[in-house]
Amino acid sequence: MIAFIEVNKTYPNGTAALQNINLTIEQGEFVAVIGLSGAGKSTLIRCINRMHDITSGKLIVDDVDVSKLKGAHIRKFRRRIGMIFQSFNLVTRATVLSNVLVSFVPELPMWRKWTGMFTKQHKIQALEALDKVGILDKAFMRVDQLSGGQQQRVALARTLAQNPDIILADEPIASLDPVTSRIVMDDFKRINKELNISVIMNIHHVEIALEYADRIIGIRKGEVVFDGATSKVTQAI
Ligand code: ADP
Ligand code: ADP
Repeated sequence: MIAFIEVNKTYPNGTAALQNINLTIEQGEFVAVIGLSGAGKSTLIRCINRMHDITSGKLIVDDVDVSKLKGAHIRKFRRRIGMIFQSFNLVTRATVLSNVLVSFVPELPMWRKWTGMFTKQHKIQALEALDKVGILDKAFMRVDQLSGGQQQRVALARTLAQNPDIILADEPIASLDPVTSRIVMDDFKRINKELNISVIMNIHHVEIALEYADRIIGIRKGEVVFDGATSKVTQAI
């Protein structure tokens, strides 16, 4: 469970990006966070894995008081939380398999030195993760030979290989075409339902959010202005 209790986040330049956020998200929910650009969506999800620090309030993930974590405990905590970005964040000159194997090391080494570092068990887990998102046949291709949708699925496999409880996704389909977007969203949905991994996704395609998420959280100027089951929204339209 993720709990925001009266959370505020103000950037050093004075921008109040989150104001008095109170939310709980149960394990296994698929939540879409919607709102205009600059509303605070990205800040909201990046506080969950401590990419950003909150300014006041309390943020709890299961048994962990997130703002109290220090050093090695932050790194350990982050392994339970996968992060997916709009821009994929892959090493495009390396193979698909290498990019997934990277999830087994805490610090990113020079990519040329990767192959010797991993055990057979690591390789099996990485290949299983690629299979879960339907791109096992691409394992030995270079990332820059893949389409955008396939690259996002590599990123998803990399995240799955670390066995997360939660996946945070910051505009994961914003740079994909409509057909590819749905393929990637189908992967998120399947992972969410079959593996009971919570998915918290920022998305500006409201239509797709309504189609895939169980719950919609609307953010405006740093405040939650809507929070409810997707069915509640679709009935109201
Ligand atoms: P969204 O994801 O909804 O587009 P963000 O969370 O990125 O919104 O931004 C919320 C607000 O905080 C915006 O006004 C943005 O300009 C501001 N902001 C985001 N990151 C920073 C930062 N590092 N420093 C200062 N202001 C920031
Ligand atoms: P993305 O689409 O990848 O979320 P953004 O344009 O929202 O990219 O932000 C890129 C980076 O710039 C982020 O690290 C964000 O925190 C920072 N940022 C966004 N708005 C501001 C701002 N007003 N002042 C300073 N940094 C900002």
